Amino acid sequence: MRQKGFKKAVALLALTTLVMTLFTGCGGGKDDKYIGISMPTQSSERWIKDGAAMKEVLEEKGYTVDLQYAEDDIPTQKSQIENMITKGAKVLVIAAIDGSTLSDTLDEAAKEGVKIISYDRLLVNSDAVSYYATFDNRRVGQLQAESLVEGLKTMKGEGPYNIELFAGSPDDTNSFYFFQGAMDILQPLMDDGTINVVSGQVTQEEVGTLRWDGAVAQARMDAILAASYSDGTVIHGVLSPYDGISRGILSSLTAFGLTGETTPVVTGQDAEAASIKLIISGDQYSTILKDTRLLAKVAANMVDAVLSGTEPEINDTETYDNNVKIVPSYLLEPFIVTVDNYQELVMDSGYLKADDIK
Ligand code: BGC
Repeated sequence: MRQKGFKKAVALLALTTLVMTLFTGCGGGKDDKYIGISMPTQSSERWIKDGAAMKEVLEEKGYTVDLQYAEDDIPTQKSQIENMITKGAKVLVIAAIDGSTLSDTLDEAAKEGVKIISYDRLLVNSDAVSYYATFDNRRVGQLQAESLVEGLKTMKGEGPYNIELFAGSPDDTNSFYFFQGAMDILQPLMDDGTINVVSGQVTQEEVGTLRWDGAVAQARMDAILAASYSDGTVIHGVLSPYDGISRGILSSLTAFGLTGETTPVVTGQDAEAASIKLIISGDQYSTILKDTRLLAKVAANMVDAVLSGTEPEINDTETYDNNVKIVPSYLLEPFIVTVDNYQELVMDSGYLKADDIK
């Protein structure tokens, strides 16, 4: 009897140890330096770079990093974050798929003392967000539109110009800042007749692209070309908010027979290798470089600050209202990339390697 009880106790102890190891073993542990990084997807190059850069800087600073990607699935991201909280994360650095879906989880985490940093995309509807590390998102949109206008003037001769507009995912706050920024530049030109959006689709609801999906954009471009350009009307340019969307748009334009000289001026964002190749070959006109290595450093400094109770460097306390508070932010500078400066900005800076664009 006695031996049976002893065996039972040993078995129970072994089970408890196993459960504890499972809980604390993978990627973290209830240590004071355990940081959770939650990224939206690996389907776009930039987030892979963001994750790698964050992991590197934080590990150099002595943190234990748990980096997770949610493959653009909202429930997956939520459960990955909940898991990080259970494992004892002290700070969460989050680039949300949909910035509004995590507020309950974040509020709960904050009650337990977990600090939250919003990374690149704004987390909304939560008081729990301490800081926001990002780029000047409105400026990104302005630069996209400025390069579109520049491209139209240099590639398509005198106006007026026919263009189409694309925006990012409606559940990502960045999309609004990008689109507003673009409209700062384009609206006056639409008003004075220099630019004409032939499809008539000009509101953000009409031009948004769910999940930033290139295939969704391609299908919309196909439909627009069929409806508004089959009669021979010339399309001179397309405002695209992201390289993956630009490539979808370019596939559609190619299938419609618009190649070489007749390729419209197409913008982009993120300086993805596949799009730099298209810029070199003359298919895509421009992209925007946002150096994720610098963003990772800014976010890592914010991690240090929230853990030591000090103030990190902030350069914007007015713009990013998350519906509960204005989140103190650090905004980095974006740059237009074209065939004329990609070598210096993207290659010589080491953002991409020669092998990436072979
Ligand atoms: C980022 C962009 C990116 C887009 C699609 C946005 O939130 O700021 O850099 O192109 O998401 O991943």
